[in-house]
Amino acid sequence: MIKYSDLTKNTERYSSEIEEAVKRVVNSGWYLRGKETERFEHDFASYIGTAHCVGCGNGLDALTLILRAYIEMGVMTEGDEVIVPANTYIASILAVTENKLVPVLVEPDIETLQIDDRLIEQAITERTKAIMIVHLYGRCAYTEKIGELCRKYNLKLIEDNAQAHGCMHNGIRTGALGDAAGHSFYPTKNLGALGDAGAVTTNDSELADMVRSLGNYGSARKYVFDHIGRNSRIDELQAAVLDVKLKYLDEDNEMRRKKALRYINGIDNKSIKVPSEGYWENSVFHIFPILCEKRDELKAYLSGHGVLTEVHYPIAPHRQKCYESWAGMQLPVTEQIHRQELSLPMSPALDEKEQDYVIELLNNF
Ligand SMILES: *Cc1c(COP(=O)(O)O)cnc(C)c1O
Repeated sequence: MIKYSDLTKNTERYSSEIEEAVKRVVNSGWYLRGKETERFEHDFASYIGTAHCVGCGNGLDALTLILRAYIEMGVMTEGDEVIVPANTYIASILAVTENKLVPVLVEPDIETLQIDDRLIEQAITERTKAIMIVHLYGRCAYTEKIGELCRKYNLKLIEDNAQAHGCMHNGIRTGALGDAAGHSFYPTKNLGALGDAGAVTTNDSELADMVRSLGNYGSARKYVFDHIGRNSRIDELQAAVLDVKLKYLDEDNEMRRKKALRYINGIDNKSIKVPSEGYWENSVFHIFPILCEKRDELKAYLSGHGVLTEVHYPIAPHRQKCYESWAGMQLPVTEQIHRQELSLPMSPALDEKEQDYVIELLNNF
């Protein structure tokens, strides 16, 4: 059986260091808002290349807190619009609606599977306050054109970097390309915790302070509450584990890229579209997505041969029951991706012999 991603095997490479870190935290008697968090926030900010990193409970909270902070800061207000890719994980959009802001869905480009920057300007209105780009599947969604639009219309650029830790664009890491970025350290992500964790990175110190306060009940000073906040913090255990894994992130991503290249060069089947090397050269391949008209048949065939795959994602956000009012929207590219996408086994620890077997199966399909 070839797993989609083998977390045990991935963690093995640094398990003794993780165990040491865990033991250190357990024995410290200090479990929240301590030295481990401080160290990780410092190290992650310097890795990403921003002045600030604020740990929080998870990736959804990171994105939600960024928008909430902008509301508290008077940058945006209820009913304002945020441009988001129509093809994304639901959490990107939940962060917008949770703040009573209005998501404006923009179609992706079928080659990059990222928001199509040619379609953004026509979606901008008087109420648009931000563009949220999502570096989906590990591929950078930022383009110079998006940066220009933000400057031209005075929009905040928010990055959902849940899937792209370590990805680079012209020497700058995703997470440092915009005004603020939300990161998820959900266990399967390229930088994954042993549970839930997230972070916000930014160069804006006012925003960083506000996010930190909002994630701590709205308090910057003990028992003094200036904002209506919530509890969303990273804990010392996760921070200590993440700090160990951060050291290996570039190496892990290099291993992912190598596997991706093996797929790209090996898969030869007219009915399967693989990410083209030109468009995907900077990806950190959180996911290796292929498109196939007979996706469900292909998935069943692979699983019948012991190869487990995933679909990211089966139902588009505008087709979800939770956003019923969007049911009539026509977003053909997004819908095509949701109909055809299949994620092949991908992880740093993926065995190359196993991978060759997957390629052979794909070429015989
Ligand atoms: C995982 C993910 C999130 C949410 O992160 P959590 O830590 O699970 O809350 C947000 N956006 C994208 C694109 C994701 O993949």
